[in-house]
Amino acid sequence: MERAEETVNISDQTSHDGGMKVFRGNGISAGLALGPAFIMEKPALPIEHVPGDPAAETERLKEAVRMAEDQLQAVLRQARERFARRDAAVFEAQLLMLHDQLFAEEIAARIADGMNAAAAVQQAGYDLADRFFAMDNAYFREWAEDVLDVAYRLCCCLTGTEMTESEQPAGAAVIIARHLAPSDIAVLDPAGIKGIITEADNHAGHSAVLIRALGIPAVGGVKGIVKAAVNGEAVLVDGDAGTVILNPDGQARSRWQAAAEDRRRIREELAGLKHLPAVTLDGKRVDTAVNLSSLQELAGAAECGADGIGLFRTEFLGLDSRGFPDEEEQFEAYCRILKAMNGRRTVIRTMDAGADKPLPGMASAAEANPALGLRGLRFSLQEERLFRTQLKALLRASVYGKLAIMFPMVTTVGEFRRAKQILLEEKEKLQKAGIPVSDSVETGLMIEVPAAAVMADVLAAEADFFSIGTNDLVQYTLASDRLNTRVAGLYGALEPAVLRLIRITVDAARAKGCRCAVCGEMAADAEGMMLLIGLGADELSVSPHDLLRIRRQVRSVSAADMRKLAEQACSADSGEEVHELLSGYRNNSCII
Ligand code: PEP
Ligand code: MG
Repeated sequence: MERAEETVNISDQTSHDGGMKVFRGNGISAGLALGPAFIMEKPALPIEHVPGDPAAETERLKEAVRMAEDQLQAVLRQARERFARRDAAVFEAQLLMLHDQLFAEEIAARIADGMNAAAAVQQAGYDLADRFFAMDNAYFREWAEDVLDVAYRLCCCLTGTEMTESEQPAGAAVIIARHLAPSDIAVLDPAGIKGIITEADNHAGHSAVLIRALGIPAVGGVKGIVKAAVNGEAVLVDGDAGTVILNPDGQARSRWQAAAEDRRRIREELAGLKHLPAVTLDGKRVDTAVNLSSLQELAGAAECGADGIGLFRTEFLGLDSRGFPDEEEQFEAYCRILKAMNGRRTVIRTMDAGADKPLPGMASAAEANPALGLRGLRFSLQEERLFRTQLKALLRASVYGKLAIMFPMVTTVGEFRRAKQILLEEKEKLQKAGIPVSDSVETGLMIEVPAAAVMADVLAAEADFFSIGTNDLVQYTLASDRLNTRVAGLYGALEPAVLRLIRITVDAARAKGCRCAVCGEMAADAEGMMLLIGLGADELSVSPHDLLRIRRQVRSVSAADMRKLAEQACSADSGEEVHELLSGYRNNSCII
């Protein structure tokens, strides 16, 4: 699906002109930058391939693991202050990897064969990373660079090398490197970095996630750039087009200036929408809310002028080695969220653990099909003690704002009824104990499983609201794993089968006076959101970064036109046909 970004291409010229050189790579993080090049090289590790005494090397390794653990804990603390919880979790995973059994066995086997500890760690790291890179599953491929990062850290500890020894630029510069690991990004001062260029290319990797979170324009996969660049020479980075220009000439610089000016104008235009409602040209109001995963992101919700929080993912509160927080810690977190929203509607989703969001510290049996296994509300209903604790904390916090509690991955009406029953029991217990609880807490559920969409008429009669989770609804409707790139061609929210399920859901909700929001990625998609308006969604919930763009688009279309488009889309034969219909409409009507 296409996402409408304010893309400005500065790269329709590839010729060499004087000293100017143009390189093509892949955009990793959007935006434009111009600044002096700073080549960042990591120190080569003094690893000698000489044999070692297994007993002594095992002891040295143990000491190095302890040192690496302390270092990673410090990086994690720092990352939690700078990044959203979800992004900082990269280092929680690295801590787990440090003690991973498979990694430990690979190292131990090499030490037993007579290798010294540093050489054993380096080789085990390379081998394991190669295996991860070769996997079909994108989720595992993401871990390859983390294995290398952890192995590098261990080798630094074993050889007495400073991990952060690479020089930092003196002033604001464009960093050029062969590869930047998540640990390198975590210690960079974003104020001193205009752009990033790497020879390595891993758009889905965790380094890329952190670079995007910092909002630094970046291009990856630029082969030969480290050798070609000279420290201090001007370099232009176009993170949208995936282009890099070394030593740009006057013409390229003017194009860059015009493009940067365009972006500034669009940013200003969007900022002007912060206090305006999302209303279509013919007067239909569509609330625009935000999806958040951590307390650190609360400021972003206020900054973009969101109508509320449409989805707060609580499972990330538990993504550290300590497991899910206790009642008091949760109560404080929920109070903070509700107070920050200052009376605006706040949908907090109960823990959606399992499948693509496994919780460290929680015992889980190996499952052949985790996406079809114990996850979402199923997990909460089985781990009832944890569920009751979370509901109690939520209810206690409810007096501090406008709370709506949402259950994830509901499949049957019975599950929803049971969850509501438990919620009621916890409310009564609190009231009996004289603890105040708001009487206006809404109760709703996510529609992510086709079975729930089909039963939407029954569910709507018993729920205050629905929120359609298109990320999962698409995967379950089309039987296409959302993380598996081999079946990515089948995964698409514009498929008529998905659209018809959304239509069934929204129609059922409307008939019963149940509010219907959409909080999956489709709500942030320039084409998908047009259909959602046409199908009758009451709210679009997107990341804070996308909110004003979506609000602007709502304000530029007519709901009546969207209804006609949605009708045609539901009768189409394929997602491609729907895409053509929508892009044709956008081109003809010149909408943004
Ligand atoms: C969804 O499935 O669309 C959704 C918003 O939930 P998550 O992405 O957290 O699974
Ligand atoms: Mg989901």
